[in-house]
Amino acid sequence: MRTHRGDQRGTAEGFASTHALRLEGVSKIYGHAGHEVRALDNVSVRIPRSTFTAIMGPSGSGKSCLLRCAAGLDTPTSGSSWIGDARLDRLDEKQLTRLRRQRVGFVFQSFNLIPALSVWDNVTLPLRLAGTRHDRTWVTDVLHRVGLGDRADHRPAQLSGGQQQRVAIARALVTRPDVVLGDEPTGSLDTIMARQTLDLLRTCVDETGQTVVMVTHDPVAASFADTVLFLVDGCFVGRTDAPTADGVAERMTRLGAWA
Ligand code: ADP
Ligand code: MG
Repeated sequence: MRTHRGDQRGTAEGFASTHALRLEGVSKIYGHAGHEVRALDNVSVRIPRSTFTAIMGPSGSGKSCLLRCAAGLDTPTSGSSWIGDARLDRLDEKQLTRLRRQRVGFVFQSFNLIPALSVWDNVTLPLRLAGTRHDRTWVTDVLHRVGLGDRADHRPAQLSGGQQQRVAIARALVTRPDVVLGDEPTGSLDTIMARQTLDLLRTCVDETGQTVVMVTHDPVAASFADTVLFLVDGCFVGRTDAPTADGVAERMTRLGAWA
C-alpha cells in the first residue's frame, strides 16, 4: 500500500522542488514586547513530495500556526517558507492567493462547509473562486472517490459528520493540489469515519502522488503517516518513521502534557 514512502533520511541538501513544503528558520511571535508568545521557535523542516507526514504535539505547541505558515495563511515573524520552489515571502498578496488556490488544499477539524450550498456547490467553490472552468466529469470523479457520488444535491445538514468531512476533503482535492494540509481532520469523527478519511488521505499520497501533512493528537491516525514529527513549545523535538500507533503513544507519554 505505501508504495510512495519517501526517503526523508536522504541528503538534507537538494533542490527545493523535490520538497513539497519547506520551512527554514521560521519563528512566529504573537503579542507585544513583555507579553510575547513564541508560537514557533526557529523551525526548519522539509517535507518531500508524495509523502504523508503527521504532526503531533501538546495543545498550544504551535501545530496550527505551523500549518498556517506553511500554507501562506499566516506570515512568519522571521524565516521563510516555500511551497514547491515558490518562496512565499517573495510573493505579493495576489500571487500568494493564486498559489494557495492552485497548489494547496486545506481541511479543518470544523469542516467549514457553507450550510446553504449543496455538496456539489461546496465542492466546486474553490474552482469558482479560482475562475477555473468546471469539468463536471472531474468533480463527479472526486465525489465518487470520497464516497459521495449520490449526495451531490444534499446540503451539509443532511449528512453525517463523516460525510461532511469527506465533502471538505473533496473540496480540498477538487483543484488537484500538490499539497493537502489537515488540521485535526479526524478530530470530530468517530472511529469508522476517521478511518475512511485517513484511507482517503493515504490514497492521495499512494495513488495521486500528492503530499499530505496532517496535525493529529491520535496515535492511530498518526500511524497512517510515513513520518511523525513531534512539536513541543514551537520546536521539533523528534520524529518517528514508519510509525505504529503503540510506538507513537509511547513516545507521547515521554513528551509531557497532552490535551
Ligand atoms: P496548537 O495548534 O498546537 O494547539 P497553536 O498553533 O494554535 O497551537 O498556538 C500556538 C501558540 O500561539 C499558543 O500559545 C497560542 O495561544 C498562540 N497563538 C496562536 N494564534 C494566536 C493569535 N492569533 N494571537 C495570539 N496568540 C496566538
Ligand atoms: Mg491547533
